[in-house]
Amino acid sequence: MTVPDPRMRWWGWGVDREATALPEKARELLRQAFSIEGEPSSPASLDDVALGEPALPEAARAGLGSIVGEAAVRDDRLARVSHALGRSYPDLVRLRAGDASSAPDAVVYPASHDEVMAVLELCSAQRVGVTPFGGGTSVVGGVEPRRDGLAGAITLDLARMDRLVAADAVSLTATLEPGCTGPQVEELLGAEGLTLGHFPQSWEYATLGGFVATRSAGRASTGYGRIDELVLGVRLATPAGTIELAPLPATAAGPGLRGLVVGSEGALGVITQATLALRKVPTVKLNEGWVVDSWQAGCEAFRAMEQAGDAADVCRLSDEAETALNAAASGHDAPGPCLAVVGWEGDEDDVARRAERTRGHLEAAGARSLGEEAGARAGRNYFAGPYLRDELLGMGVLVETLETATTWSRLQELYAGVGDALRAALAARGTDALVMCHVSHLYRSGASLYFSLFARQERGAELEQWQAAKVAACDAIVAHGGTITHHHAIGRDHAPWMRQEVGELGVEAIRAVKRELDPAGIMNPGKLLP
Ligand SMILES: Cc1cc2nc3c(=O)[nH]c(=O)nc-3n(C[C@H](O)[C@H](O)[C@H](O)COP(=O)(O)OP(=O)(O)OC[C@H]3O[C@@H](n4cnc5c(N)ncnc54)[C@H](O)[C@@H]3O)c2cc1C
Repeated sequence: MTVPDPRMRWWGWGVDREATALPEKARELLRQAFSIEGEPSSPASLDDVALGEPALPEAARAGLGSIVGEAAVRDDRLARVSHALGRSYPDLVRLRAGDASSAPDAVVYPASHDEVMAVLELCSAQRVGVTPFGGGTSVVGGVEPRRDGLAGAITLDLARMDRLVAADAVSLTATLEPGCTGPQVEELLGAEGLTLGHFPQSWEYATLGGFVATRSAGRASTGYGRIDELVLGVRLATPAGTIELAPLPATAAGPGLRGLVVGSEGALGVITQATLALRKVPTVKLNEGWVVDSWQAGCEAFRAMEQAGDAADVCRLSDEAETALNAAASGHDAPGPCLAVVGWEGDEDDVARRAERTRGHLEAAGARSLGEEAGARAGRNYFAGPYLRDELLGMGVLVETLETATTWSRLQELYAGVGDALRAALAARGTDALVMCHVSHLYRSGASLYFSLFARQERGAELEQWQAAKVAACDAIVAHGGTITHHHAIGRDHAPWMRQEVGELGVEAIRAVKRELDPAGIMNPGKLLP
């Protein structure tokens, strides 16, 4: 049996050989903007990371070994530290500082649905918390183990469950296990001539189970649909038994149970299989950059194209600040006030026809085409961003991202409200903030907004500084009619706003479902519910 090593470096994003560096021009710009001096800091060394001794009850440890095999229960330092936290800004601050005090007692690697069921039964009986883990790319505290009065905490890493179970080229569907990473999904489906078309920025490391459990959205989700629109069938292993929902194109059989499983964030059970709606691999992928005179004009153009049914598969519009910073980060001059990137995927005729219609809306709004290279460049830079975040943390820069969505009629109010709240929260602590934003997904009734925040870190109070900004932004999101999360999920970080999102009775309804499926309260303690 081979149990995979952690895929990512334990203190940051990805692997060393893929790491990209900021151009010197951008580094200098940030140093000046935030008055940063001194040499960059390095992460703690693995040997110095603080974590407690593994403290699983003896019977639980022995039972896990007999269910999945001794080699598939790891409690060595690397495995535990690599599963202590996700990849949010506060997670990275803690890891770099050598704090892995939340590490699980053991990391368990099941190979099948039946093994997952047996682990959940054992952990319920032994009162051991179970945190499902896909790629560990959560940015909302979703994979940090919590003991919450339980006798121990294990992380269930699904990396060994990475098979294509079945593909149906007639119906354009396929069933996959949850541990497949984004690239594995596309490789397995590509061999059948199919694609999921789901490319979140974390795609290289995030997994199918994680996508489904968090309701993620990818770069081309305006066209392909978010993952929740693509899940047709799903299997959930819960401490109370298995919920199996057959892959159907549609059903009127009562309230949507699929919707309860999709987005359940490991708090109700473990997704051990999902059947997805797919497309044929496109023969053409075309991206274009366009320059728009203002953020407001760009948003109006996007609304018009979406409501006319003419939106591209990829639709991103950066505001003035993001356009300028992205240009500097890639060593180029800003092309104009606001950069829009639109992209289409399909066969040649389909792409040509749809591109013409999208372009008509952009031209009507006075936008100017920058051509294919500008669109392709934005695509290339997409996967480099997370590496640059590691470098910025080393320089002493706070880098946070926040996402929300609202109706078109409140979009500008939300945009202004969140930006103002972030700037004010940091100014109150004596720090200037750079806030930038892009529209990332379009809907007939509205759009999502994705904010990035940069500021000088308050050395020694990094987490307090982050918390102040986070609370201010989340309160502003609620006050201005946004959802607390459009695609990052609730986890632990957004749980305090869950009542405002779904109401007290809504929270109690989810809690009642959890009591039924997870009576011992072992599934991902402390997440999803306030
Ligand atoms: C740099 C970066 C970029 C990102 N970009 C995007 C983006 O473009 N779009 C987007 O939507 N998100 C994005 N995210 C957030 C994150 O990648 C997504 O939430 C992703 O879906 C998580 O997948 P994962 O496999 O890493 O899940 P994990 O981080 O391992 O887990 C996330 C949650 O799902 C639960 N879970 C995982 N697997 C299962 C399972 N099989 N059954 C039950 N519960 C499970 C976990 O317990 C946890 O609560 C980004 C994150 C980072 C760090």
